[in-house]
Amino acid sequence: MRLPGSVSSSPLPITVTPLITEEENIVHFMSFPRFFFRHWLTHKPSYLILHVTSRCNLSCRTCFLRAAHHEPELGFFASLANSLPELMWLDIGGGEPFLRDDLPELCGLFRTKILSIPTNGWDSDRVCRTVGKIRKRFHGKLILSISIDGPKDMHDRLRASGSWERAWDTFRNVRAMDGIAVKINTVICEENIDTLPDFLPWVRSQGPDAHSLILLRGDPNDPSLRLPSLERLKSCLPIILHELKQYSYGSGPLARRLLAGYHRLLWETSLAILEQKRQVIPCLGGSNHIVVWADKRAGSCEMLEPPGSLADSSLPELLGDPAWKAQRRFIAGGGCWCTHNCALLSSLFFHPPSLLKLLWRTARG
Ligand code: SF4
Ligand code: SF4
Repeated sequence: MRLPGSVSSSPLPITVTPLITEEENIVHFMSFPRFFFRHWLTHKPSYLILHVTSRCNLSCRTCFLRAAHHEPELGFFASLANSLPELMWLDIGGGEPFLRDDLPELCGLFRTKILSIPTNGWDSDRVCRTVGKIRKRFHGKLILSISIDGPKDMHDRLRASGSWERAWDTFRNVRAMDGIAVKINTVICEENIDTLPDFLPWVRSQGPDAHSLILLRGDPNDPSLRLPSLERLKSCLPIILHELKQYSYGSGPLARRLLAGYHRLLWETSLAILEQKRQVIPCLGGSNHIVVWADKRAGSCEMLEPPGSLADSSLPELLGDPAWKAQRRFIAGGGCWCTHNCALLSSLFFHPPSLLKLLWRTARG
């Protein structure tokens, strides 16, 4: 398959060997009820987005981060890790996380079942070297997410000239390493949506474990970029769902079915949110899901103003602070809505009716 506007790199064989065995999958699943009940009994966070730097070597048009230079020292992350319970999911964010030389040590501080790290893939050697060191320190599921926003010309227009070639180089080099799930992340906006019907199957032919399609959010660097209309998104839904169903998610058949079902539920929920302009399931931002920014502020999600800073208080102090609780009441009262996929992951898995729907669909196949 040849994608218009792509380079003629030969496709890699699609990975069929699961990165973790079915037995390991079952162990992962068995740990979920512990997080589920801990959430409902104690409201302790299970999902952390941790922005480890605001430095970046690109300036993408879709980027919604315009922070001044911030990069907390390793000791800050050690204190944070000590104040957290074991996490179900740690999502590293940036800037470009791989610009930190101490990223392996930083990742090794946290107890988490899943560790996910995004990259723009600009510096393949650095990413491969670092991810290899992380793999040695971290024994849970490690996911590297490479941002690729469309065919070559489209991607380079949205991110940076030459970034498409570099990102796919990184993909091929990391793909050759053992024990690392590789995901492609694509931010969908009005400008690239028409490329999806050709682009999605082509990406799959290159052999990633998964492809995340993320709706444009926040205020992008380029204010002319818009989310596609609801009608346009709905018209693309069949091809999106068809594609997402094909991936292995770096797992065996059971997890694969669950995760394919999850992606379907995520899309159905996202479109319902856009249509109804409200939280269609209760958002768990500020309880199950929290965000720590590179300037040490901490908050409920990436969209709302953080109510406090870890420069002044510990995380347990912040979670008990009146400003935090007021924001949590605002969220629980349906005061905000959005389609941020990371916040929705927490909200769907820890929302009993959604979880039951997901399990029912997984059981039915
Ligand atoms: S989207 Fe990511 S890679 Fe692009 S400028 Fe923002 S932080 Fe950097
Ligand atoms: S609905 Fe969106 S804006 Fe509101 S708390 Fe959840 S993630 Fe944040």
